[in-house]
Amino acid sequence: MTHRHHAATIVLSAVSLAFAGAALSQQTDFSKVEIKTTKIADDFYTLEGQGGTISVLTGPDGVLLVDGQFAPLTEKLAAAVKAVSDQPIRYLVNTHVHGDHTGGNENFAKLGALIFSRDQLRERLAHPNPGADGRPGTPAPPKALPVVTYDNEITIHLNGEDVKLIPIRVAHTDGDTLIRFPKHDILAVGDYIRTVGYPRVDLTNGGSMNGLLAAFEQTIQLAGPATKIIPGHGPNTDRKGVAAQRDLVLAVAAKIRPMVEKGNTVEEVIASKPTAEFDASVPNAAQTSEQLVRWLYAEIKARFSGNWKLDNTFNGRVSAVHCTLVQSGDALTGSCKPDLPGMEAAKLTGTVSGTKAKWGYDLVFNGKPARVDYEVELAADGTMAGNLLRNGSASPIKGTRLP
Ligand SMILES: [Zn+2]
Repeated sequence: MTHRHHAATIVLSAVSLAFAGAALSQQTDFSKVEIKTTKIADDFYTLEGQGGTISVLTGPDGVLLVDGQFAPLTEKLAAAVKAVSDQPIRYLVNTHVHGDHTGGNENFAKLGALIFSRDQLRERLAHPNPGADGRPGTPAPPKALPVVTYDNEITIHLNGEDVKLIPIRVAHTDGDTLIRFPKHDILAVGDYIRTVGYPRVDLTNGGSMNGLLAAFEQTIQLAGPATKIIPGHGPNTDRKGVAAQRDLVLAVAAKIRPMVEKGNTVEEVIASKPTAEFDASVPNAAQTSEQLVRWLYAEIKARFSGNWKLDNTFNGRVSAVHCTLVQSGDALTGSCKPDLPGMEAAKLTGTVSGTKAKWGYDLVFNGKPARVDYEVELAADGTMAGNLLRNGSASPIKGTRLP
């Protein structure tokens, strides 16, 4: 990378558009990019060029790629694959929607690769968010869209390996996948883990800091002591490295939370340098610290936002309601769906006051219209408790967060 390109990368990292593959691709001279191939294990390689690290599984059944970087690099990437395998590229798995991971999709499809992704990723490629300037996003060409999508774990049996595509519900985006190679003892995880800079979430593509913490836990559970973890960007890591990232996010959030409670602005929180104790040990800390603080601040402030399971005890019987709450300032919207056959989700409205919230909705129950209201308070452990009010009677509820 030339000095000029390095500078361009840093400027981009400093703004929230750092994900925007398109923006990066406009500034990168792809003719200068060289592909670096690293052997990780027998029949397993990584390719680094520009954008997300690619994992390559080789063998007599054909090649499987995890991610495909930018379109202008496909020829070089295909040549790098050819240097380690004489077999065709049969499968391409997208870890998440960002252009530096999916930009090569169309080209690899034309080379014969079958593309896999989460349902949500395909939907976002086909219907992208508007740009920062408000202009509509450009839909990916039809050939770039994944052919096989999934919302639960699936397995590709290839080259004696059982490649597990494991949904990471909501983390860097809402369409992340962890790709597990059990026999090679390797996890390829995309950008919800990165070893350069602080952790990143893309809120406009459905990412979440709470989800990121759940994803770290899920990854730690799946990894053994010797498991190699290939992040979206930066050197490989392991279970200990992911645990350290989890602890870092928890520690920074613990510093920010009381400031949010006191009513401090995000600028005041940034000025207090809540990442200071970690800055020396995180590469590119200076370029990525502020953004981490902003994401955590927004999420802590919108403390009710997320997916909740609320257990209601009524006449000694427990029933559950699943609610998706969206907090914006002091207003709550979203929907709740009782875990009963035939019940539809009902749209809710409500208000937040500090750690307390109220919301309610109308629904039809046993053929009759009914009104359901909730009054809850958040506990220090992140759960919520309160009452469900229905037909003038109150019954206790307890809420736990779902990823
Ligand atoms: Zn990304």
